[in-house]
Amino acid sequence: MAITDHATALVQAGVPVIRLAAGEPDFDTPAAIAEAGISAIRQGYTRYTPNAGTLELRKAICHKLREENGLSYTPDQILVSNGAKQSCMQAVLAVCSPGDEVLVPAPYWVSYPEMARLADATPVILPTDISDNFLLRPESLAAKLNEKSRVLILCSPSNPTGSVYPKELLEEIADIVRKHPRLLVLCDEMYEHIIYPPAKHTSFASLPGMWERTFTVNGFSKAFAMTGWRLGYLACPNQFLAACAKIQSQITSGACSISQKAGLAALNLGFAGGEAVATMVKAFQERRDFLVKSFRELPGVKISEPQGAFYLFVDFSSYYGSEVEGFGIVKDSESLCRFLLDKAQVALVPGDAFGDDKCVRISYAASLSTLQAAVEKIKEAMVLLE
Ligand code: PLP
Repeated sequence: MAITDHATALVQAGVPVIRLAAGEPDFDTPAAIAEAGISAIRQGYTRYTPNAGTLELRKAICHKLREENGLSYTPDQILVSNGAKQSCMQAVLAVCSPGDEVLVPAPYWVSYPEMARLADATPVILPTDISDNFLLRPESLAAKLNEKSRVLILCSPSNPTGSVYPKELLEEIADIVRKHPRLLVLCDEMYEHIIYPPAKHTSFASLPGMWERTFTVNGFSKAFAMTGWRLGYLACPNQFLAACAKIQSQITSGACSISQKAGLAALNLGFAGGEAVATMVKAFQERRDFLVKSFRELPGVKISEPQGAFYLFVDFSSYYGSEVEGFGIVKDSESLCRFLLDKAQVALVPGDAFGDDKCVRISYAASLSTLQAAVEKIKEAMVLLE
């Protein structure tokens, strides 16, 4: 937030800041989806929907989960919410009691530890290493499990690292989960469609014995460029779904009726979002390739090539400790981001916010030419730290 405020102040002062901090696609919502929303308004489809979401949308979600993820759910096991963030929060709130532990591999999406705290649970951070592509080692998980362990949160493809969990690793994790009857798994699959070959997405709930204890969370914001429509969903066994639905009915009720019609159109675009999504993913992949190549040219920088999502999580820690005249010492990810904002006019997010202070997150939800300009400016500024 501090960096965002600083960037906003600079923009207001007329400085042309390149913003690579956003967690949202730079594309417009595909036309067929937007039209479905417009037509919903024109047809007066503007009233409350059932708390859990419209039956037609929940049926379409079941179809998607069956065809694309090999998961079998019925509409009464689907809860449509105002974004996947709400879905995650409700799952944690529904099953955690005070003192329970929520296991969060780091780097993590910023909201997970706070969600645990909001539920009076304790976040237990499981560090990972860039040399393991930021993937959780099964033995690190096993070492932290006890009778208080309640929820393990997995995010694949990951925000902020872009890492994708291979099926074999998920199977090893499932073997450990199986030994802890009280442990549930929240699998955040938000970036499922934004994945680069040869990486493949595996839904944790599709592994033997895992359906019964997994919350599968997904949504429309990222793959369909629908961040502002606020639409996400959760799929899980009935007893958990009932608890989540009860929470939702008291805090927000059902998601926006117009967005649900748009969401239905999104699912009707075809397998994995069809051409419209494939076009965006192709652009993201080109940008990823460009950024990975560019940052590999910078001495002392470590990168794990993202396999999905639209973020690059770069380890700049070899530059920490450098003093720059008129700025001071760049000592951590926050000061590095302030430095890059001041000297390169590029806004990035400090890795500290994601639980890894060695790194900085670069969002490539921006055009290739914008990224080229940003890289040039970052490279020029980094020379001051050598
Ligand atoms: N999960 C992850 C990993 C995210 O990065 C985000 C958004 O940044 C969300 C969930 C929330 O998505 P939504 O817009 O559907 O609330």
